[in-house]
Amino acid sequence: MSTLTVMAESHPESMFEAVLARLDKAAKLMNLSDDVLRVLKHPSKEVKVSLPIMMDSGKIQVFEGYRTVHSTHLGPSKGGIRYAMDVNADEVMALAAWMSFKCAVANLPFGGAKGGIKCDPRSMSVGELERLSRAYAKSMKDVFGVNKDIPAPDMGTSGREMAWIVDEFNKITGEDSPGVITGKPVSIGGSLGRDAATGRGVMVNAMCALKKMGLQKNEVTAIVQGFGNVGSHAARLLSAEGVKIVGIGDHTASFYNEKGIDIAAAIDFASKNNRILKGFKGATEIPSDQLLISKCDLLVPAALQNVITEDNAGKIQAKLIVEGANGPTTPEADPILNDKKIIVVPDILANSGGVTVSYFEWVQNKAGYYWTEEEVNSKHDHKMQIAFESVWNATTQFKTSMRIGAYITALQRIEQGVMLKGAY
Ligand code: NAD
Repeated sequence: MSTLTVMAESHPESMFEAVLARLDKAAKLMNLSDDVLRVLKHPSKEVKVSLPIMMDSGKIQVFEGYRTVHSTHLGPSKGGIRYAMDVNADEVMALAAWMSFKCAVANLPFGGAKGGIKCDPRSMSVGELERLSRAYAKSMKDVFGVNKDIPAPDMGTSGREMAWIVDEFNKITGEDSPGVITGKPVSIGGSLGRDAATGRGVMVNAMCALKKMGLQKNEVTAIVQGFGNVGSHAARLLSAEGVKIVGIGDHTASFYNEKGIDIAAAIDFASKNNRILKGFKGATEIPSDQLLISKCDLLVPAALQNVITEDNAGKIQAKLIVEGANGPTTPEADPILNDKKIIVVPDILANSGGVTVSYFEWVQNKAGYYWTEEEVNSKHDHKMQIAFESVWNATTQFKTSMRIGAYITALQRIEQGVMLKGAY
């Protein structure tokens, strides 16, 4: 029993307003049609539901669930589902718009969406989480669809929640449609290569940028902040390419070793240590606020948002930043990095490897034919290299930063979709 409300209010000084500010900047530079800009400033659908769940205690708790579809001009909307206490309508709307731009930069036939439930998944039992996920899937039965809106995991969710959601959705529709959700476990239609895909995309983008900068990968040093899904795979794959990883860190500790860190040993250590780096002996522990500003050529922030700020941007020594995390650089830090001639491969390009392999999962589900990991990786690398090249070209053509170049690349594609599909 859930209630469905369509919301239309706007929030001043909101996260969505911050997305619109960068959108405005790119739109002005590329001379985007006012009509298209007006369309993109309004998400196409916002849904809020109330989810009454029977908790293990025997009491009913009511959770807020959201799903916002920002655009469908290039195809069905795509974007994750987040379980976190700070989920709210404004954040979901901003993240949905971000997905429109990310999918367009990667040239995927998708629009953008995002969903979330305001909850603290770590304080809930597996049974409570399953009931919540199934209730959410049921309440979104008219929103989701294999050719309509395709969710995936995000913060606080994983293949486990995707399995419950796809199962509930398919029970309701009476059809077996695995492609209605991506990021599923491989045994129920997930794609090989999905787990490492975002870190792999970071590596491919770093390789493309180093080549443009005339730097030899085996003479380059790197620091990676965050040692979870994105950071650990990025560090492993960069190291396999010959890049010397001199710094790593997570929320428990940061480490530096100018001679290079054995990443396989760090991954092995973390896997046996509750997935944290504290206590790792392969490098010297340094204060966490020193990690991003320590000596290196390549910096990969792959943990949180807003870590490169006006306070530390001026002290960054790297020549290249590849944003594994979403939103690691604040708008105030951008001009400082630009003045220092640091090349920043922006999040909507740098971490689009994940959604690219989600797209491959959807394609494989629709075809009912599954690829080897080598096929997935090779198609991914090719798509990422093309995406990098198109952003690089827009950046050069418009004499701007790669961040604005990425927005321009995305907007040029979305503009065509909006104009060709037209309006009532
Ligand atoms: P994760 O939970 O697997 O790992 C996060 C890592 O960040 C952990 O190692 C954690 O210890 C570390 N961390 C947290 N707080 C920190 C702090 N204060 N200082 C230093 N390290 C800290 O998450 P993830 O999936 O690797 O996601 C990381 C970032 O990448 C997020 O911004 C996410 O939105 C983004 N992203 C992830 C994917 C994906 O496919 N997983 C795709 C696109 C973008």
